[in-house]
Amino acid sequence: MAIYLDHNATTPLRAEVREAMAPYLGYLDGVFGNASSVHAFGREAAKGLNGARERVAAALGCAPEEIVFTGCGTEADNLAIKGVAYAHRGNHIITTSIEHHAVLHTCQYLERRGFSVTYLPVDGHGLVDPDDVQKAITERTSLVSVMHANNEVGTIQPIAEIGRITRERGVVFHTDAVQSFGKLPTQVDELCVDLLTLSAHKIYGPKGVGALYVRRGTRLEALLHGGHHEHGLRAGTENVAGIVGLGRAAELAMAEMEEEGRRVTALRERLWEGIAANLKGVRRNGHPTRALPNTLNVCFEYLEGEAILMGLDAQGIAVSTGSACTSDVLEPSHVLLAMGVPPLIAQGSVRFSLGRGTTDQEIDDVLEAVTGIVQPLQAASPLFVEEMGV
Ligand SMILES: *Cc1c(COP(=O)(O)O)cnc(C)c1O
Repeated sequence: MAIYLDHNATTPLRAEVREAMAPYLGYLDGVFGNASSVHAFGREAAKGLNGARERVAAALGCAPEEIVFTGCGTEADNLAIKGVAYAHRGNHIITTSIEHHAVLHTCQYLERRGFSVTYLPVDGHGLVDPDDVQKAITERTSLVSVMHANNEVGTIQPIAEIGRITRERGVVFHTDAVQSFGKLPTQVDELCVDLLTLSAHKIYGPKGVGALYVRRGTRLEALLHGGHHEHGLRAGTENVAGIVGLGRAAELAMAEMEEEGRRVTALRERLWEGIAANLKGVRRNGHPTRALPNTLNVCFEYLEGEAILMGLDAQGIAVSTGSACTSDVLEPSHVLLAMGVPPLIAQGSVRFSLGRGTTDQEIDDVLEAVTGIVQPLQAASPLFVEEMGV
């Protein structure tokens, strides 16, 4: 048995995407030119690049010129945050305490370089309060960066409300939409954002390709210097095959978003209802309605999420935990801690992230496996027995 429920970490490449990429992989009998070259070989590559730019722009409701292709979502986050920080006089940045490390560690880096950063709190469901953004903005604020949907618990932030505030105050607004792109509507004008990050490998595209939407007129400093690629914002010969793959993956995700969203939501609810019916001491993390369709985060109280992960892995089932292994110590998830989950409970969290391949049968199999693994762990946990009185 092999069941993959870790789609928020990465997804498999779709057959249609591989097909679209194949002519651009760089073989002699395909398209191998440098997209910046003037000759026919270059023009062929540029055609692939332009087509992908149009497809990604269509998915975001922006102009193709506003798309900058990057080497990954992490790079797009770095370009947005450092790019704005370096291009503006103000040295204050506002973000949240539940961002992906691509944002958090970039902000922490800038703090070490003399910038000041405000990390906004979230409520018990993982929601940021737009009023907190309003109050945190000062004369010195150059950037607000708030993720669209959280990768661990799936909570969707009130991006448009925050965007209206930043626009009124004249502050650049970035959102990391890596988890929402392809799963939720991400029209940049409706979201009211100036910068938006996305990544191909989270939407059944290839690894090592991302993009940053840059609203026309947004002042941004490049991080990579060299040729005049990507409107001077990202030097380096473009990964044409990867970018073509991103374009195709985006197009397919948009076409299937609604139906696939409904399908995985039903599967996710079925998984949660089964877990809640079979087991004591479980709690669901995240927002009851403002949530990604595919993400279920559960705390198994007084257990170690890692133990459950490894038990499932031994049966061929892939899930993840929010905890990061730093110097052999298990740190509970920064997202759950920010949501006010006690550290001892947060340790027991497991994330199930469903995807296109997930079936009813798989959900039933996972449910059976989880129950079979968790019950003996609970019986062997003195803390669980003591707290639950069983
Ligand atoms: C995966 C992810 C990233 C990083 O994207 P890469 O392409 O893997 O660098 C950034 N933000 C969020 C929310 C993610 O889930």
